[in-house]
Amino acid sequence: MVVDVLVELSNRNIDKVFSYLVPNKFKSKIKIGICVLVPFANMKLEGFVLNIKDNDNSLELKEIIDIVNDGVILTKELLELGKYLKDKTLSTLISCYQVMLPTGFKAKNKKKINIKYETYVYINEEELKNNKLTDKQQDIINYLSINRNVTYSKLININSSVLTLLKKNIIYKEKVEVYRLDSNYELKDKYPLTELQNNIVSNVNLEKYLTYLLYGVTGSGKTEVYMELIEKVIDMGKSAIVLIPEISLTPQTVRRFKERFGMGIAIFHSGLSDSEKFDEYRKIRNEDIKIVIGARSAIFAPLENLGIIIVDEEHSSSYKQENMPRYDAIDVSKWRGEYHNCPVILGSATPTLESFARGMKGVYKLLIMDKRINNSLPKVIIVDLFKSKKVNKYLSETLFNKMKNVLEKGEQVILFLNKRGYSTTINCSECGKTFACPNCDVTLTYHKSSGMMRCHYCGYAEAKPDICPNCKKDSLEGSGSGTEQVEEEINKLFPNYNSIRMDFDTTSRKGSHERILNDFKDKKYSILIGTQMISKGLDFPNVTLVGVINADNSLNIPDFRSSETTFALLNQVSGRSGRGEKCGEVVIQTYNPSHYAIEYAKNNNYLGFYKEEMHNRKLLGYPPYYYLVLIRIKGKDYNKVSLESKQIKEYLNKHLNFSILGPTIASPFRVNSIYRFNIIIKYKTINNLYDILNELLEHYKSKKDIIIDIDFDPKSF
Ligand code: ADP
Ligand code: ZN
Repeated sequence: MVVDVLVELSNRNIDKVFSYLVPNKFKSKIKIGICVLVPFANMKLEGFVLNIKDNDNSLELKEIIDIVNDGVILTKELLELGKYLKDKTLSTLISCYQVMLPTGFKAKNKKKINIKYETYVYINEEELKNNKLTDKQQDIINYLSINRNVTYSKLININSSVLTLLKKNIIYKEKVEVYRLDSNYELKDKYPLTELQNNIVSNVNLEKYLTYLLYGVTGSGKTEVYMELIEKVIDMGKSAIVLIPEISLTPQTVRRFKERFGMGIAIFHSGLSDSEKFDEYRKIRNEDIKIVIGARSAIFAPLENLGIIIVDEEHSSSYKQENMPRYDAIDVSKWRGEYHNCPVILGSATPTLESFARGMKGVYKLLIMDKRINNSLPKVIIVDLFKSKKVNKYLSETLFNKMKNVLEKGEQVILFLNKRGYSTTINCSECGKTFACPNCDVTLTYHKSSGMMRCHYCGYAEAKPDICPNCKKDSLEGSGSGTEQVEEEINKLFPNYNSIRMDFDTTSRKGSHERILNDFKDKKYSILIGTQMISKGLDFPNVTLVGVINADNSLNIPDFRSSETTFALLNQVSGRSGRGEKCGEVVIQTYNPSHYAIEYAKNNNYLGFYKEEMHNRKLLGYPPYYYLVLIRIKGKDYNKVSLESKQIKEYLNKHLNFSILGPTIASPFRVNSIYRFNIIIKYKTINNLYDILNELLEHYKSKKDIIIDIDFDPKSF
């Protein structure tokens, strides 16, 4: 037996296929798509079996060394999908296959499976009856029996000591399954759906592939609709994938799925260790998993019988991978939906312009939920930071008074500011010195708790000096407030109320997101201060005021989507207010009160925003009217990168009949000592674009000091 194996040559981004002999001991295990370890020169490489053939003895071949990770295998579907992605994103085939497997898969070869997250115990009832049990054990069994009618499909909570007891004393056989989870999940009955929700559900044809765009305002009950659809799909004997932008930020959503469906859910999120991810992956292959919930890469879950794919918050840029392969999980959803002939649901309160335009054109079937379950959208107040009175540098009297009011009533407040750290720059008021990163073209952000100034791009850090190192005066000042500073001053202004901050810096430890959110839900804190981490998917009924400290941060980003992202962000953040019985308010502070993104956000007017922004995009020739490709030219030598960029532009101009912008410098221009230029191609029909870009990549493969990234439909520049 001989196999053709796809390998990657020392990270040079080159696909290679070589043939190897299969030793007898592996013959029964070898299948197409399996991952194997093979010798190459004096290295051992991991690769995928693409083809199996007879040994014709005409060639001297080396033998494969081993089968990797207990024979984790790419299904026929995923093998095909990989080829599609390679062509579509101009990536290597092997990078496409690698991204489909759990991270750490490559690095951690042949490790022990370590199940610590969820544990199954199998009990044989007959044998139990014949065994003498201790009182304690009997208690447990009684406990189990009470719940037995729900156990098979649902879950029971038991603590770990009980679990150990069970494991020791009970014969492991199939009959009843017991499930342990980290925290207490109570099973909940589902709500009777509203008429509108029922309507939406019945509008989805579960028997065939179609992409639906569920545009539903925040709090309109989209998640309930997803769960209802999934229940139907499970009844049909099929399974579901649910994508969520960043799952560790949305423990509430995961909890709701667990409460509704109990067992049979596999979860992927960035907080899992490599071995935990691998365990979840194995569960999908070996156990009765009906629902996979996860961030971007969960779209590759090897479920065989998909009945629905749901992409929640479809506008989130996190669905696009920023490095090779630069795939879009929504694109993959559609491919898999078509493959399995099942519906794909894209849900959002602020769909991307591209998606909504497709909805309007009928490419997607548009489903609309324009009312909240509690029927009241929050009232939004805009505060002009130029004109308003302020209680400190950034807090208007309006927001301050409303906070006081809400807090006195025992209700809760969320404050949003999309900048972490204490102040975004430190400069000397005497000599004007500023502190910039030595590796990147950005200023260092001051973090007071650690006394350090940090680069948010490369991680460079240095201690903040007490006096200016330049003029030796005690005149260093911070400007540009971050969440750390807001927290400090809010604590001064509201000494009688507890506040908690949630941003990258306070959530580095495992489980900290969930802890902060649970504590806030349990009202241990009255005020939650955070970055965009707090904008999504949170459902706190007692929050009746949301304050946006500065709406302009995202408006000022030089990107044609900055209005769209600002509108979406304000809308999502506002959507956290007044979700319960009580009415909610939102205060948006801005120096641009008349900007249309802010005005439409104030009126919760997605359609109005959509129309105006479409008009702008048309005038400027941007998506959805044109497609874009970003070509990024990178290198350490400024002159070289600059020169090559100009040559690439010439080459493209010569061979393409499209409008080509640039080269311009990327923002920031230099990151990690690497200079970056952008060239942007706009096109309507693809023509010869792929051929020309492939030639470009081919040309630069051999050049070590210039790197070319090609990004179709880039989400940022
Ligand atoms: P979305 O996902 O659109 O933001 P959710 O599904 O989170 O909306 O629903 C908003 C709130 O309304 C949640 O607290 C949810 O539990 C509740 N809810 C949803 N559907 C119903 C229903 N049919 N009856 C009662 N409450 C509901
Ligand atoms: Zn840096």
